[in-house]
Amino acid sequence: MKAGHCSAAALRERQTTMSINIQLTEGLIASTAEKTEAANKLLADIARNFSPATFANSLGAEDMVLTDLIVNAKLNIEIFSLDTGRLPLETYDLMAQVKSHYGLKLKIFTPRHKLLEPYVRENGINAFYESVELRKACCHARKVEPLQRALESKKAWITGMRAQQSATRDGLPVRSYDEGNGLEKFNPLADWSEKEVWAYIKQHAVPYNALHDKFYPSIGCAPCTRSVTPGEDVRSGRWWWENPESKECGLHVKAK
Ligand code: SF4
Repeated sequence: MKAGHCSAAALRERQTTMSINIQLTEGLIASTAEKTEAANKLLADIARNFSPATFANSLGAEDMVLTDLIVNAKLNIEIFSLDTGRLPLETYDLMAQVKSHYGLKLKIFTPRHKLLEPYVRENGINAFYESVELRKACCHARKVEPLQRALESKKAWITGMRAQQSATRDGLPVRSYDEGNGLEKFNPLADWSEKEVWAYIKQHAVPYNALHDKFYPSIGCAPCTRSVTPGEDVRSGRWWWENPESKECGLHVKAK
């Protein structure tokens, strides 16, 4: 299947706000506060005991929560983002907003032209639709290799992954050793629900990607992300033409 553009167009017809419309009930406020306290403690511990540590900010809702926590607590944790060159306009807008809102200069990593140019010349600009192999090769050049450079000489890295996001993230630990990259990996929001993420964003007026208002719960590169329908897996809009089991980009290898 090439891309499924027809169904994406059909979905766009009924785009409305989604996560932002949650009701801030007492129970939700309490559970979010409890998890925020735990995340703050963990982040402070990482900054203290795993320096130099770095946070991979993909500009998704979860990552904006972590950005808010790290910046507000003035923690000694670097914050970086991968610019694959294929991100949606809304994500670039959010990068600019992060700078104006927090005064934060994101450390941006871009693909190595020596890897990317031969891949595009040989396979074409949208080759990722043709096979899982070609898709993973694109993800390698645009994401995995830049990530490896971002993690060089670090003791720990932090992500905004949550266990509830997809089948591939079921049982996600808060802490594990990332053997592939040779450092500790922390997921401070591993046990957060989607509602708790949005409760935090709403309560603290955290800036977020405008695509979240249009049924994009998980946002990656523009050609590989589409909107989803309510009740669908959060990451079902990512690489939607593939089987759920293959839907990771190689950034997050599951700990054994
Ligand atoms: S998400 Fe798509 S465009 Fe982005 S790096 Fe992976 S295959 Fe390439």
